[in-house]
Amino acid sequence: MIRDREHECMGRGELGQLQGERLAKQVQRVYERVPFYKDLFDKSGIDPNKIKGLTDLPSLPFTKKVNLHEQYPFGLFATPLSDVVRIHASSGTTGKPTTVGYTQNDIDMWAEVMARSLACCGAGRDDIVQVGYGYGLFTGGLGAHYGAERLGSAVIPISGSNTQRQLMLMEDFGTTVVCCTPSFMLYLYDVAQQIGLDVKNLPLRVGVFGAEPWSEEMRRDIEEKWNIKACDIYGLSEIIGPGVSCECVEAQNGLHINDDHFLPEIIDPDTGEQLPEGELGELVITCLTKETFPLIRYRTGDITRLTTEPCICGRTNARMARVSGRSDDMLIIRGVNVFPSQVESVLLMSPEIEPHYKLVVDRKGSMDTLDVQVEIRPDLYHEVSEAVLSLDDINYFTEHESLIKLKSHIQKNIKDIIGINVKVAFREPGSIERSEGKAQRVVDMRKQG
Ligand SMILES: [Zn+2]
Repeated sequence: MIRDREHECMGRGELGQLQGERLAKQVQRVYERVPFYKDLFDKSGIDPNKIKGLTDLPSLPFTKKVNLHEQYPFGLFATPLSDVVRIHASSGTTGKPTTVGYTQNDIDMWAEVMARSLACCGAGRDDIVQVGYGYGLFTGGLGAHYGAERLGSAVIPISGSNTQRQLMLMEDFGTTVVCCTPSFMLYLYDVAQQIGLDVKNLPLRVGVFGAEPWSEEMRRDIEEKWNIKACDIYGLSEIIGPGVSCECVEAQNGLHINDDHFLPEIIDPDTGEQLPEGELGELVITCLTKETFPLIRYRTGDITRLTTEPCICGRTNARMARVSGRSDDMLIIRGVNVFPSQVESVLLMSPEIEPHYKLVVDRKGSMDTLDVQVEIRPDLYHEVSEAVLSLDDINYFTEHESLIKLKSHIQKNIKDIIGINVKVAFREPGSIERSEGKAQRVVDMRKQG
């Protein structure tokens, strides 16, 4: 169901007009109300009166995460605290968190975009929505909660964890829609198996998953195990919380951005230049309608691409691809921007290899090189090593004909995606070190010695 046909199915021209008008107004507004923006625009030689529409957008300076820290806690608020009705904060991994504020209008807009997003996933008045995101300073729980209420669904505000109780309520209350992180959904499945609950018999039909990166493989896994549709939702507290964008259940092909409120752009994270539609880069968002915390050209650090091609569901708003990494991870190799996630996506397509890999960047003379080391699957390894045993040296396994073919196939696919030649080397199963936390998959030798 499309909740707001007027805004979600607007002609692109008409939408651009609306976005431009809102942008001009917002720029003027923050210049008058937020000393940080007055300084920033003055220093960048920006006259807010000359910002008339979307074509002026690239001239505006970026807002960065560091600015949010510098202005902690309320320095970026564009309304007096008397107008603020809610304050959320993100948990900073180091030091102080990032604080965001909302007026009543901001909360209403948030509930509305979240209701649109849930409707986009196929939820409606008759649904029982179990919100398994954390409630509190984190925006996930309350964001989903207000959106589901706005939609008219029956909300179960169970919050995160409580694994056994989550399963009990799913069964007893007949939950039809669940909102939580995808990894928690897989964990719930394991626990359901342990207690002998057949989840395929539950009335559950849709999952709205976000707040962490996940892959197409994980989607298929969840959909199969639970017999549900799994949709991707995206948001960040700096912009509003969840509800910036969401996949439609019809296509599950890119997340529809509520771009009448959140103006998206893709930039080259290295140069800051705006990139044409379809190219991979860093997502930048401008809050067109927010009152208390309206960021201008905020660099999200998330890597994705945009399309404005019409979707089969009928919505015309811009769609972003699943976030494929962070700009902090970007490598520049021979002047080309390369994201480890791009290489990973190619590796994941080959069933002959394991998702354990290492990227080694080096410089030979003046030439940057990228070596991709990846483990082959144990059964293939044994098959191949048996075949070459006569060579007396197990290391010859990589000389096997089928592996040479596989190697050139993968090298070609990586080149197609990132545009440069790489060297793929197969490693024995289990030989690439595992890590408990965030895997160290990139070694940049150029930075050493
Ligand atoms: Zn769609």
